[in-house]
Amino acid sequence: MSFDLDLFVIGGGSGGVRAARIASGEHGARVAIAEEYRMGGTCVIRGCVPKKLMVYASSFPALAEEARAYGWSSDVGAFDWTAFRTKLDAELDRLEAIYRKGQVGAGVTVYDQRATVAGPHEVALADGRRLSAKHILVATGGRPFVPDFPGSEHVLTSNDMFRLPSLPKRLLIVGGGFVACEFACIMKGLGVMVTVWNRSNLLRVFDRECAELIVNKMSESGIAVEAGRVVERIEKGPNGLSVTSGTVSETFDAVLYATGRMPNTEGLGLEEAGVNLAGNGAVVVDDWSQSNVPSIYAVGDVTDRINLTPVAIRDGHAFADTIFGGRPRAVDHELVASAVFTQPEFGTVGMTEDAARAIEEIEVYAARFRPMRSAFAGGDERVLMKLIVSKATRRVLGCHIVAPDAGEMIQLAAVAVKMGATKEQFDATCAVHPTMAEELVTMRHPVR
Ligand code: FAD
Repeated sequence: MSFDLDLFVIGGGSGGVRAARIASGEHGARVAIAEEYRMGGTCVIRGCVPKKLMVYASSFPALAEEARAYGWSSDVGAFDWTAFRTKLDAELDRLEAIYRKGQVGAGVTVYDQRATVAGPHEVALADGRRLSAKHILVATGGRPFVPDFPGSEHVLTSNDMFRLPSLPKRLLIVGGGFVACEFACIMKGLGVMVTVWNRSNLLRVFDRECAELIVNKMSESGIAVEAGRVVERIEKGPNGLSVTSGTVSETFDAVLYATGRMPNTEGLGLEEAGVNLAGNGAVVVDDWSQSNVPSIYAVGDVTDRINLTPVAIRDGHAFADTIFGGRPRAVDHELVASAVFTQPEFGTVGMTEDAARAIEEIEVYAARFRPMRSAFAGGDERVLMKLIVSKATRRVLGCHIVAPDAGEMIQLAAVAVKMGATKEQFDATCAVHPTMAEELVTMRHPVR
């Protein structure tokens, strides 16, 4: 049977663009990709990249304060959101153009429109055209989830945060995951009064001790954190949005819902094509990213495995190498490191203390200290470094760091943890002095 294409990729985000570029540019397949919004996807347009730039923007008042303590007569002045946003828009345009050029340069045909699955080997474009493909890759990512309740039409999602016409004076953030906490710290740094409401404790999927330290520091910085709050309704009034939870009613200028994300499979034609979906709509795939329909594959957030950019990229690359490059490989999803860009920052890889303890006997090594730079300035920053070690094998099962630039540190520690390094091998590594990270190789006695 002959097809118009070897591969049709639906979704031009992290996973989709990598798969398309490698399949076409490196392995010579005939490839097309459809993107309904902007090339680059969530990470580039409304996730990691603009968020990190906002983290940088929000960090300057604290830096200026520290600079003064070091003898500089500096003042950071007022923040001009419009100037920042204009620059951010230009940067995202630049990045989007790079992603598009990467696709076209690799020989991929780009369709700037929505595509849906019309059968195991057929894709329907929004303009009515139909294309046949030997393989279809679903890389449609996820979207923010907002529960239905009276007034839910007034809330913002993370998608809106990069395009705000102006900064609100009073912001309520509902949610307790990494996106909620990152935006809380960003907005606080930019001068917004921030309140966080969540059903339970914040950052609860992470190491508990580390999460507690971060949440305490968030509170100390002036963010009002309230666990156990469930929004019942939101009413728009002359003074803003009145938000009710039980007997409490408070008024804010904006409400951000960061209560999780859903895989983007609604109306995609997958069920009609016979593809198995999980309860939340995620495409069910095997280790090779293949669905139960042999010609249909899925990578990235739409599979709801580990919802991070580097994972989507690896999934997409491995798919292209396997199907078109004669280099079959399944992605190893074990020991994926990640960072939470709160202030303080958090880097983590491997098991939390509680998860490891539930499985085997462990030793916990931990160092809590004030980092030199902030201590000199009279600041109250706190660093926490933790190693979770198996008593039986001595392997480091988890490494968790709350510290400035923890994201940079955990990337390097993750190499050792992924290699299966033991505590003794960490100890045999000579320290780099004076640094914060040296504590990782100088913790001599377990604390628990
Ligand atoms: P996406 O990047 O979401 O791409 C899917 C694309 O498909 C989108 O562009 C969408 O428009 C398009 N699409 C959907 N349906 C169709 C259709 N029917 N037809 C055509 N196009 C379609 N990860 C990290 O690793 N580090 C971080 O710091 C980080 N920060 C984040 C911050 C925020 C606020 C958010 C929301 C996410 C963050 N992530 C982060 C997660 C990361 O962005 C995702 O894991 C990653 O983008 C997933 O890539 P993907 O290819 O699966 O999907």
